[in-house]
Amino acid sequence: MMKIAAAVSAFALTITPAFSQVTEEQLANDAASTGDVLTNGMGRDQQRYSPLDMVTKENVKNLVPAWAYSVGGEKQRGFETQPLVYDGIMYITASYSRMYAIDVRTGEEIWQYDARLPEGILPCCDVVNRGAAIYGDKVYFGTLDARIVALNAKTGDVVWRKRIEDYKAGYSYTAAPLIVDGLIITGNSGGEFGIVGAVQARDAETGDLVWERPVIEGHMGMLNGEESTMTGSLNASWPGDMWKTGGGATWLGGSYDADTDTLVFGTGNPAPWNSWLRDAGDKDDGSGDNLYAASRLGLDPKTGEIKWHFQSTPREGWDYDGVNEVIPYEDADGNKRYATADRNGYFYVLNREDGAFVNGWPFVKDISWASGLDENGRPIWVEENRPGNPVDATDGKKGEVVFSSPSFLGGKNWMPMAYSQNTGYFYVPSNEWGMDIWNEPITYKKGAAYLGSGFTIKPNYEDHIGSLKAVDPATGEWVWEVKNESPLWGGVMTTAGGLVFTGTPEGFIVAYDDATGEELWKFQTGSGVVGQPITWDMDGEQYIAVASGWGGAVPLWGGEVAKKVSYLNQGGTMWVFKLSSQVASR
Ligand code: CA
Ligand code: CA
Repeated sequence: MMKIAAAVSAFALTITPAFSQVTEEQLANDAASTGDVLTNGMGRDQQRYSPLDMVTKENVKNLVPAWAYSVGGEKQRGFETQPLVYDGIMYITASYSRMYAIDVRTGEEIWQYDARLPEGILPCCDVVNRGAAIYGDKVYFGTLDARIVALNAKTGDVVWRKRIEDYKAGYSYTAAPLIVDGLIITGNSGGEFGIVGAVQARDAETGDLVWERPVIEGHMGMLNGEESTMTGSLNASWPGDMWKTGGGATWLGGSYDADTDTLVFGTGNPAPWNSWLRDAGDKDDGSGDNLYAASRLGLDPKTGEIKWHFQSTPREGWDYDGVNEVIPYEDADGNKRYATADRNGYFYVLNREDGAFVNGWPFVKDISWASGLDENGRPIWVEENRPGNPVDATDGKKGEVVFSSPSFLGGKNWMPMAYSQNTGYFYVPSNEWGMDIWNEPITYKKGAAYLGSGFTIKPNYEDHIGSLKAVDPATGEWVWEVKNESPLWGGVMTTAGGLVFTGTPEGFIVAYDDATGEELWKFQTGSGVVGQPITWDMDGEQYIAVASGWGGAVPLWGGEVAKKVSYLNQGGTMWVFKLSSQVASR
């Protein structure tokens, strides 16, 4: 009898309960619901702030590993993912377009999916993936061959798989998708190949395209299977046919401002990098701005129409992609604002109603390409620091070399900052570096690099490149700064416990005091941390997770900096921490 009872109970345990479908309401409430992490950014506004306060400034020193999980194999490349946690399962994406479901209590694998990429994919900046999306009974992620895949969240079986664009033309996909009102919204990657940036919205259930909005002027949008409207006005800010291969990759995905019902997407560099080939006219009258590259766009989520734009770098010529995350917040006076920290070194505050410039300041030390911002947020260029036109060179092949700061990898790159509702500060993972850059002739060829530039990145300081800064968005003041020897490349998270979490390429996940920047705890994960920390609570305890696995653009593109950090080891481990149970109550 006892044997039968044991068998029955073991059988009962193996029956999986029906998957509890994720609703739009749950996605909208993600920032406040501490028991799960359903969206990129821990809320569609991407503040990366958790109201959890079980882990405090006092007890954070007692964090210990709960489990670790290796994505292993020979595919140990940049591990930039942000995990999702729902219904007892953690969903993570990994290099080479892989996805895993893991039992969040034990670290045991439930399923894994490998996208089996074709030969000839053209990822520019490592074979990374930055995370998944979840809605209904499905999880979604983008792949390096520019597809979006919907998987059954419980089994990992493919439900649908759609092509975003042609990978042979240089398109790829690495960002976490965004889901709003049943639409799954994606951007694209490939700005170094002369692709055309676009935002697409699909029915999350079927994968059918609902609308598409190219972000370069002259291209036509699409809505419900028909042409909708032209983006901008043809040739208003682009010469000749250059807009046809004009770049503007929307490669970091977007955020969603529920208050104004606006999708906010950033756009990458105009193509090619050599700005003289796109120079239509006078620098001051807007005719050479190359809209809407290197910009932030507010889009109507139902139609994909552009509601507003803010261009951070008109006539861009340093690869200052304008893709970095735009975070809605309320300032101390109750004004609805956006904040964004651009590759070009400036931190911007914008009006949430219309994207209009409110204020802006440098968040890195040695900006050389501009001397400041005017009252509209337009850069005041330092013309002699624009890389020269090869046409003016004696051989017509290599324009004048200039030193530019920040480097093309940016005062800040993709790695997301966080906003603390506790302090009202933004915590910005920045880098202090510059580059020698010059221009060369180039013509477009499908699937080939389309830069027309050469470059070498250099550190600006001997003792550090990385610089985590607490930025007061009311004044632009740096409240505190923590320097790091190698460039920072991981995301930041803040908590109501008064903590700021981030990782370093040297392998540490670190917790800082949000008011002072004092280091309160760190743990060596075994490889560089370029992932995005999250936190949630489960069974009465607060958990913290981060991916460890060095990689990304720095080792591939970093010039002298890449040599300096070549000692860093690769990896591929998801780490989960909680307070040691003996001390959790102290
Ligand atoms: Ca949540
Ligand atoms: Ca770029």
